[in-house]
Amino acid sequence: MIRLVAFLILFVACSQPVIADNKPLRGIVLIISDGTSQELLTAARCYSAGAEGKLAMDGYPATAFVSTYSANDMVTDSAAAATALARGIKADNHVIGMVSAGSTNAPESLLDLARKAGWSTGTITDDSATGATPAPFSVECPDRNQHSLIASKIVSQLGVRADIVLGGGNKWFHDMSQTESYGSDDLQVVRKTEVELRNRTILAFSRWDDFIAHVRAGHALEKPVLGTFFPDVFPYYADGNRTLRLKDMVDETLQLMLRDKRPFFLMVEAGLPDKACHQNQAKRAIGEVMELNAMMDLLKAKLPLDVLVVATTDHSTGGFAFNAPVPRNLRGEALLAESPISKGSTFTWATGPGGSGGPDPATPRQGSTNDPLSSDHVQPSAIYGRSSQHTGGDVWLVASGPGADVFHGHIDNTHIYALLAKAIKGEGKAQVIKSETKKTSLP
Ligand SMILES: [Zn+2]
Repeated sequence: MIRLVAFLILFVACSQPVIADNKPLRGIVLIISDGTSQELLTAARCYSAGAEGKLAMDGYPATAFVSTYSANDMVTDSAAAATALARGIKADNHVIGMVSAGSTNAPESLLDLARKAGWSTGTITDDSATGATPAPFSVECPDRNQHSLIASKIVSQLGVRADIVLGGGNKWFHDMSQTESYGSDDLQVVRKTEVELRNRTILAFSRWDDFIAHVRAGHALEKPVLGTFFPDVFPYYADGNRTLRLKDMVDETLQLMLRDKRPFFLMVEAGLPDKACHQNQAKRAIGEVMELNAMMDLLKAKLPLDVLVVATTDHSTGGFAFNAPVPRNLRGEALLAESPISKGSTFTWATGPGGSGGPDPATPRQGSTNDPLSSDHVQPSAIYGRSSQHTGGDVWLVASGPGADVFHGHIDNTHIYALLAKAIKGEGKAQVIKSETKKTSLP
């Protein structure tokens, strides 16, 4: 009998973990899946597990709709959207970390708030570490395309704002083998950045094995870490030639952060759904959503219960559509092949290279193969463009962990910042309508 009672107590304790509301957070993970529409999530779910299947995020208890307009455009780009999330302000498109290209000050980043609260901080992406989504968390810059300048600013903020920055974009920090991509100004900045990396006590890794060895040696975050593992963006996972995965970077970074005694704030970007959507390539886009899903499965398995996880997208891209009629039991590659009912493509796009009537009518689908199962196949779009457009509809958000229930209803992307700022400051679960931001002078 005693054994049975003990078993029942253990069973209840294991199956219903309870976190006291007033207990300090162990950490926050903010996930931004770039350019990932609700329709694309549904397609990835059906592709991987059928219509009744579940993605990791489908188990998150809190959900919200999010408006994403920027300061100067109804349809945001990644720079303005990430600035809204990182700083709590509406910024002009293409601007990093501040309101406009001419700004002379900028609001504090979530990384600043976390550091002030005594937390460790980091950003991870499979885009370039200088990309428009991670950059506004660490730096300010008038133009998202000034990658060498952004890289030099990131280096100056390592150990100040960020304890660890991982991603691609090695060529903007210290890999001089990619010189064809540089203008002469870029070359000068990259050389300076390389010297600064050598002279500062920063651990800079460009080989994944070296970073793994550092983690496996039992380190925490004693010194700031920069890891850039590809010259630019990571290759698409669907292409089959990429071994380093987003979930690997998150796994190793969490080991460093959890060994550290401080609470942590970690921003993780799945950057490649957007890039595949810009080229109307559904197989690559779905593959990258599955990479996001694998990373979220890892979080579920490895994160302590007192970590708040918030996942969202910055905007949708390409006007992706999942078109009827589709046989109810279709899944996997059959969804990419010609529909057995319509004899056309189940997936289509609103804008992008899949449209006819482009500048060169002889090559209406640039870069495409005719095989719908190949990863670089381009599905049809309604309006031709070399790259598809972002779209302005509200986007999804899911949250899990202590305090997740403050994310609900319809919110603006700047309010995500405000709610996370409150969580970092330990100010409980009060709902925030207006974001509160302090200004800091730019260096
Ligand atoms: Zn985009």
